[in-house]
Amino acid sequence: MTATEVPAQATFESVDPRTGDVVGTHPVHDAAAVEAAVARAAGAAEWWDGIGAAERRHRLAAWRVALVRKLDDLAHVVTEETGKPLDDARLELVLAIDHLDWAARHAAKVLGRRTVRPGLLMGNQAASLTYRPIGVVGVIGPWNYPVFTPMGSIAYALAAGNAVVFKPSELTPGVGVALADTFTEIVDGRPLLQAVTGFGETGAALCRAGGVGKVAFTGSTATGKRVMATCAETLTPVLIECGGKDPLIVDVDADLDAAADAAVWGGMSNAGQTCVGVERVYVLDAVAEEFTARLEVKARKLRAGSGGDFGPMTMPAQAEVVRRHVEDALARGGRAVVGGAESVQPPFVEPVVVVDVPEDSVAVTEETFGPLLVVNRVPDVDEAVRRANATGYGLGATVFSRARGEEIAGRLRCGMVSVNGVISFAGIPGLPFGGVGDSGFGRIHGEDGLREFTRPQAVARQRFPLPLAVTSFSRTSRTMKALLGIVRARHGR
Ligand code: NDP
Repeated sequence: MTATEVPAQATFESVDPRTGDVVGTHPVHDAAAVEAAVARAAGAAEWWDGIGAAERRHRLAAWRVALVRKLDDLAHVVTEETGKPLDDARLELVLAIDHLDWAARHAAKVLGRRTVRPGLLMGNQAASLTYRPIGVVGVIGPWNYPVFTPMGSIAYALAAGNAVVFKPSELTPGVGVALADTFTEIVDGRPLLQAVTGFGETGAALCRAGGVGKVAFTGSTATGKRVMATCAETLTPVLIECGGKDPLIVDVDADLDAAADAAVWGGMSNAGQTCVGVERVYVLDAVAEEFTARLEVKARKLRAGSGGDFGPMTMPAQAEVVRRHVEDALARGGRAVVGGAESVQPPFVEPVVVVDVPEDSVAVTEETFGPLLVVNRVPDVDEAVRRANATGYGLGATVFSRARGEEIAGRLRCGMVSVNGVISFAGIPGLPFGGVGDSGFGRIHGEDGLREFTRPQAVARQRFPLPLAVTSFSRTSRTMKALLGIVRARHGR
């Protein structure tokens, strides 16, 4: 359904994917409502910019404290709308709060005015650089980590001095609204962080709304392309965080137990619905048998379900994608060592591990976004790297190797790598997060993530006139001759 097919004041329901119970009713915001939200945000952004970095930091610290106080309430909303275990929802909030703290504490230093050497030829200038807020940032978020993922944009955009209009996924509108409400209290009701709810059309309206200075999108590659096309109409810049097909490489000297543990957590936590989740494992022949045996034991212990180790497929249609991938892998000669096609019992999917899967199977080439691990043997690290890189995606990766983890990491075509750990990079607020290729571009988190929501402004202030005035119609051939003499002496040999 799209907003154009429903009346302006229409509403939609969010449901608990475990039970199908309705847990909330939300308005479908149409283009006019989105435009109005952006217009309100523009006024709030001016105030936010005007209060200065120190007061922003103070307010964001107050928000951090409020989020800690409300952590359990918010975690319940996340669990209700995604079906994930409450502790997973709590963990998501903990990480988001830590990132908020980092962004608030580092914004002034990263974005504040800095002097730049003017160089010999322009030695009469005082050069400086500042990163100014964009104004209003539109954030479009997914449902899988409905707090942590959008907060990678929201917290950094706010810390950089912007207002945010946030369009949460239609599956998790309650989380978006609850999150925005917590910040509105901190800024005395000002519309600095507003949630607009609805379907894809509401997101498209946010891309089109006049006054949005940048759109930060997280979601599937297909929707990312649509968002870019819509933003192209108004030349609105975009940050695109899409999916992945992340590999895990197990080297001959790896701690096999730790690697197996990382593979099951990386592949199956959140029911595999993690953009940086482990989907493919490349294990070196010499340790393949032992690694797979350990992986099997760990994966067999996991249960999907209410009260289980992970919850349901939040988006019902995803279960069929997982089924298709498992069936294709098996039909092409893959061998299921844990579970199989029968593990797909919507809305839940039990763990599946398939070994020796042809590399052209969809379970290897497409994002599965479910608790399926493909484990393939490779003769050496070169082949592991070659296969790891043989995908259009390039989001994250994991390497287990005692001696050459960082060396292997350096050969991977992706935005982030965890060595001897899993998804560790996402929890480190100072590290930028984002991908290449079909996984998107631009960065959230870290210094890059703060700068992403700013426009650099360069200022050159003349301190005194140069004796060689070359940018004036009063220049003489003698002046140019002197300048060329300097350039030849400095750059000509
Ligand atoms: P979707 O691409 O379906 O949706 C993402 C968001 O875009 C939703 O809010 C959606 O609204 C909105 N949207 C849909 N159509 C449009 C449109 N035409 N214009 C503007 N906005 C639109 O992704 P999912 O929510 O299904 O999330 C899963 C995907 O996200 C996976 O591929 C996953 O890998 C990726 N992801 C990437 C991350 C990263 O940082 N790289 C992190 C987390 C997830 P609605 O829901 O109402 O349709």
